[in-house]
Amino acid sequence: MWGRAREVAAKQDEEVQGGFYSAVMDGQTCSACMDADQAYNAGTQDQPFQLEELPGAPNPECEGGVNRCRCIHVYQFYRESGLGTK
Ligand SMILES: [Zn+2]
Repeated sequence: MWGRAREVAAKQDEEVQGGFYSAVMDGQTCSACMDADQAYNAGTQDQPFQLEELPGAPNPECEGGVNRCRCIHVYQFYRESGLGTK
């Protein structure tokens, strides 16, 4: 199951297996966000997923500024995962 960041913020940590950065990728998307798009990080048994490993969303580097950035983090949860089989 994939969820948008703001829907799952409360239940992060334990259940999140991995996450990636998702830019909107339309004509308004700046190059900083384009570069960060699809950046992915997954936790392992020894090392849980670290949100800090992903570029920030909203992106501090966003050329439109943090307040105009529309990028989000998308998380994958342990329960229904099957990571690697998108
Ligand atoms: Zn952005």
